[in-house]
Amino acid sequence: MQARAAAFAREQVIPAVDAWEREARYPRAVVAASGLTGLFCPEDVGGAALSYPEGMAVFEELGRGDAALAFSLSMHNAVAAAIAGHAELAAQWARPLTAGEALGGFSLTEPHAGSDATAITTRAEPDGSGWRVTGRKAWVSLAGEADLFLVVCKTSAGPGHRDVAIAAVERAGPGVAFPTLYRKACADFLPIGEMELDGAPATMLAPAGAGMRAALGAIDVARCDIAAIAAGLHAEALDVAVAYSGRRQAFGGPLIDLQAIQFALADVATDLEASRLLYRQAAECLGTPDGPVAVAHAKRFCPDAALRAAIACSETLGAYGWLLDHPLARMIALAKMLQVVDGTAEIQRVVIGRSLSSRSPRG
Ligand SMILES: Cc1cc2nc3c(=O)[nH]c(=O)nc-3n(C[C@H](O)[C@H](O)[C@H](O)COP(=O)(O)OP(=O)(O)OC[C@H]3O[C@@H](n4cnc5c(N)ncnc54)[C@H](O)[C@@H]3O)c2cc1C
Repeated sequence: MQARAAAFAREQVIPAVDAWEREARYPRAVVAASGLTGLFCPEDVGGAALSYPEGMAVFEELGRGDAALAFSLSMHNAVAAAIAGHAELAAQWARPLTAGEALGGFSLTEPHAGSDATAITTRAEPDGSGWRVTGRKAWVSLAGEADLFLVVCKTSAGPGHRDVAIAAVERAGPGVAFPTLYRKACADFLPIGEMELDGAPATMLAPAGAGMRAALGAIDVARCDIAAIAAGLHAEALDVAVAYSGRRQAFGGPLIDLQAIQFALADVATDLEASRLLYRQAAECLGTPDGPVAVAHAKRFCPDAALRAAIACSETLGAYGWLLDHPLARMIALAKMLQVVDGTAEIQRVVIGRSLSSRSPRG
């Protein structure tokens, strides 16, 4: 699967991403044909049944291709894995999701509630045998494009997270609308925007009481994906800079023979080694009590390191680093995106800081 992801990034993504950007169109058929849409699902529903460390190796390769496409596949794979674990939803959706015929989206953020996810107000209410969901979601990736959304919601009007639940809502169902798509610094092919739910019919995936734990578990996997994607972007940026500075002549020789260039790229290479160690360690810890903090270290470090790398590598190209003919200008914007998606660097520091505080002697 790692080799398949590497070939997909090299042959299907890198040569095509400029055209996707110009057309502002999500490459649905390319994604469906990738064979990378059921990474963590069991084989009996068409999945690849990868372990987390194996899956993260796939995401590093995808990060080399395009971090925004890789992010959409991270979200889709998280949704597919969750659906595969729910008998009723799996019967209808698991095979289309693992085959990439259907796409999955995850809606947690609301216009007034980002990092503070406990402030969400989207409400699920029972309706005979099912549920109806009402509220407004923000920053919905694959808005209008995904077929099934996992919507994090509350089952009462009270404060706190005890009644947080996760409901599955079909894009094509009644009461579902996508009124606004955002204009973004890059990734025009990935539709992101608001989602309006007005009594939308839903199937309960994780009921009140289990919803917050399920969401946090899925977000930990997604954060590890993002750390691996960041390492892939970082590795690709370094390869572009090494190749360019070997070809570019200045002052009687190739740029890469200048020690100032070597030193800049040496720091990028050291950071890449650290990023790989961190996300691989986090992948080994997923699902254990050490998981959340290990993931927070990786999600905090890897996108920051990738952003530093994209800037440093762009500088080795001089003016050309600024042109869209080279991938580095885009990589800077994408690394910035990776810092925010699935929880900002500050929120990772909150997780790490709390664990330090909990082991500090008091009084
Ligand atoms: C490209 C992209 C795609 C996305 N896709 C999705 C999606 O598909 N589904 C979805 O649900 N969400 C999605 N998001 C939303 C994303 O998860 C949120 O943007 C993120 O959680 C941060 O929330 P916010 O933007 O509202 O920032 P805020 O929570 O308003 O934070 C603003 C700033 O304050 C800082 N801050 C907040 N709280 C603290 C604290 N306690 N201590 C220190 N600093 C703090 C933050 O780090 C940040 O710098 C996406 C975001 C992006 C950029």
